[in-house]
Amino acid sequence: MKEEGISTEEVRRILAGMREKDYRYDRFLSTMCTVPHPIAVEAHDLFMETNLGDPGLFPGASEIERLVIEMMGEMLGSPNAVGYVSTGGTESNIQAIHAARNAFRRKSPKGGNIVVPQSAHFSFDKIGDLLNLEVRKARMDADLKVDLDHVEDLVDRETVALVGIAGTTEFGQVDPILELSEMALDRGIYLHVDAAFGGFVLPFLGSRNRWNFEVEGVKSITIDPHKMGMSTIPAGGLLFREAEFLNLLATDTHYLTVAKQASLTGTRSGASAAATYAVMMRLGRSGFVDIVNRCMDLTRHLVTQARKMGIEPVIEPVMNVVCLNVDDLPGVRSRLMARGWHVSVSREPQALRIIIMPHITRPNLDLFLEDLSTATGAATSAR
Ligand SMILES: *Cc1c(COP(=O)(O)O)cnc(C)c1O
Repeated sequence: MKEEGISTEEVRRILAGMREKDYRYDRFLSTMCTVPHPIAVEAHDLFMETNLGDPGLFPGASEIERLVIEMMGEMLGSPNAVGYVSTGGTESNIQAIHAARNAFRRKSPKGGNIVVPQSAHFSFDKIGDLLNLEVRKARMDADLKVDLDHVEDLVDRETVALVGIAGTTEFGQVDPILELSEMALDRGIYLHVDAAFGGFVLPFLGSRNRWNFEVEGVKSITIDPHKMGMSTIPAGGLLFREAEFLNLLATDTHYLTVAKQASLTGTRSGASAAATYAVMMRLGRSGFVDIVNRCMDLTRHLVTQARKMGIEPVIEPVMNVVCLNVDDLPGVRSRLMARGWHVSVSREPQALRIIIMPHITRPNLDLFLEDLSTATGAATSAR
């Protein structure tokens, strides 16, 4: 830092220059984040300085957080669920497994592993490291759902939790939560569902997939308002079926307005809770149904057009995530990147991964499809 400050104008000029270096959302096909709804931005600004870590000072902000959890609980099949607004899927997953481990260790001092699908988000590797748990990864079946027989093989008496994914980060697939729940209930094991991405998609799809708190064995759910919830970053949600698990996370706080705190972070902004509340109130269920329908229409359009080019998806898309089997994947990706498209690549199987978020428009998707045709055509002629 310099000894003397500079003028506001000068700071603004520097900031604008830096922001100019950032890429723009209209060509992002690789991210699960999106442009927040305008009402979310307004709410974020209004609650900018609130701290949910010290809720006695901010009764308004903490009431908003309570209402957000209530609305999300209702959306996820349990209006009585408890939890808090976190910084995102990673924190929610950490705290869910943290609670499961604490519950396990009340009965047995050991408790050494969690069983997750091979498709689990990398946050579970962080969790293994942080909580000193072995992370056992179960194979996928042909549809890229977790292989239940392999899960069964990996579970033992030291298993602290089972994890199922409702909307995998790479393929948008939903694990067989009903069957995982039966297994968990049979063996008395905690089941966590990671719906960081799918949480704001699946409830609006009208599909018969059962994956939320209506499934008895599901103890906690991760859901990210900063992905398909159109909120501002950082907005995550962690919900527990029973208060008991949230209480297992509580730490005594001696100088704050509340005696205990269950969140991983201490000081935490009320801004993204307010942003999440504002979008949910503004859009309502029907507004989210419209957004998800639009994304799914574009997703189907992408798949139809890709098939006309002879390109098949790895699985029939379940939500607005598509992985395409293309020849010369690195070449195709770099040609698309050269045209300004930000696309990513899945592992196992490797494919061109495309996420159709609400910021993607039909005209832009059509431009992308033209470039995809050229990029893959070049791949064919290069062989
Ligand atoms: C995005 C994602 C996460 C991580 O969420 P962050 O908000 O990036 O911490 C965890 N699980 C799944 C399934 C995700 O898609």
